[in-house]
Amino acid sequence: MSKKKIALLGATGSIGKSTIEVVKKHSNKFEIILASSHNNYKNLFEYAKQLNIPNLAITNENLRSKIKSDKKIYFGEDKLLELLNNLDYDILLNAVVGSAGLRYTIAGLQSKHNIALANKESLVMAGDIITKMAKKNECRLIPIDSEHSAIMQCLLGNSLSFGIRKIILTASGGPFNNWKLEDFDKIILKDTLKHPTWNMGPKITIDSATMANKGLEVIEAHHLFGLKYEQIEVVIHPQSIIHSMVEFIDGSILSQMSYPDMKIPIQFALSYPERIPASAQFTDITSLPDLTFHKVDYDKFPLVKIAYQVGKAGGIMPTIFNASNEAAVSLFLREKIEFTDIRKIIERNLDKPNIANPDLETILSIDKEVKEKVFTTAN
Ligand code: NDP
Ligand code: MG
Repeated sequence: MSKKKIALLGATGSIGKSTIEVVKKHSNKFEIILASSHNNYKNLFEYAKQLNIPNLAITNENLRSKIKSDKKIYFGEDKLLELLNNLDYDILLNAVVGSAGLRYTIAGLQSKHNIALANKESLVMAGDIITKMAKKNECRLIPIDSEHSAIMQCLLGNSLSFGIRKIILTASGGPFNNWKLEDFDKIILKDTLKHPTWNMGPKITIDSATMANKGLEVIEAHHLFGLKYEQIEVVIHPQSIIHSMVEFIDGSILSQMSYPDMKIPIQFALSYPERIPASAQFTDITSLPDLTFHKVDYDKFPLVKIAYQVGKAGGIMPTIFNASNEAAVSLFLREKIEFTDIRKIIERNLDKPNIANPDLETILSIDKEVKEKVFTTAN
C-alpha cells in the first residue's frame, strides 16, 4: 500500500512535534511531503533532515533575507497557499495556531483535500463556510482536538447526529480550577503556564486557564457535528482521562478515554478510517486516579458562557470573540495586561453590530480590525 502523504502546517509547534513522532513511528504508512513553520526555521530544518521532507515553507516573509540554505525554501503565506493547491498530498494537517490558520483550511478544502484539523480557530471563525465547502467537495474534516476526536470515535458506527441527545465536552478546568474568584487578581503569567494535565503551546495554555478554549471548542463542536448549542454541555473533569462523551436519546452514554496524550487523536485523524498500533503509552486503568466531574463555575470562567452567546448569535460574533481573545492573550503573554483583562477586552469588543452570513473576506477583515484595535488601545 502506498504511504499517506501529509502536508503538515505548524510543524514546529506542540501538535506539530507530536505529529512528527507519530509519523516516525509509522514511517511505513505516512510521509510528510510539506512542512511549514512561521519563525522556527532551525527545528523545521532538523525535521526535514530526519524525515527527508521535500518541501519546506516559512510563512514569515521577513526571514527571507536572513536564512541561508542550500535547499529551496518557500517564503510567505501566499506561497504556502499556492503549494497547498499544487502539491500532490492526501491530507492537510493544520496545526497553525490562531486565525492565521483559516486561509490554509480553506485552501486545503478548495483543492479537495481531507483535513486533519487542530486549528480550531478556523471553525470558530468560518464554520458555516468550511462545513459547506467540505460537503460540496466531498472532503473529510477530522478533528484533532481531543474532545472532538473523542466524540467522533463515540459516533463511529452510528449515523452522525442521529439519536444524539447531547454531547458532553470535558474540561480539565486548567490551573485555576481550585482557585477562589477573589484570588484571580493575583494571577501572574507563571501560574497560568502551569497546565495540570496537558503540555501545549502558549496560546492554548492561556486559553485553557481562562477556559476560552472550552468556549472555542463548543463552537467547534456545533459546526463539526451539526448540533444545536443546547445539545452541547461542558463538564469539568480535572483528571483529563475521559476526553468527552455522547449521550443518546435512549439514555446510553459513550465515552472515549486514555492518558492525556495528543498523539492518540493525531494518529486517529491520520489513520482514519483505520486504526493502527499506538504511538502513545497504553493506559493502565488500575493506576488511574478517581475520575470526578463537576459543573463549570461561570463566575470564575465567564468566557465559556460568552462563547455560547457568540456561537448562538453567529455571523461575525465568533470572529470578534476569537480575535479579541487572541490579541488579549498575546498581550498577556508579553505581560502587558493582567489575566483578568483578557475577559474585559473580549467583552468590550463584542459591543459591535453583527453581520449575518459574512463571506471569507469580511471575516478576515474583521479579525484584522479587532486585533489592531486591541493592540492600539493597549499601547
Ligand atoms: P504552538 O504555538 O505550539 O505552535 C504553533 C505553530 O504554528 C508553530 O509551528 C508556529 O510556527 C506556527 N505559526 C505561528 N504563527 C503562525 C502564522 N502567523 N502563520 C503560520 N504559522 C504560524 O501551538 P499548538 O501546537 O499548541 O496549537 C496549534 C493549534 O492546535 C491551535 O489552534 C490549538 O488550539 C490547537 N490544539 C492544540 C492542542 C495542543 O495540545 N497543543 C490541543 C488541541 C488543539 P513557529 O514555531 O515557527 O512559531
Ligand atoms: Mg481540546
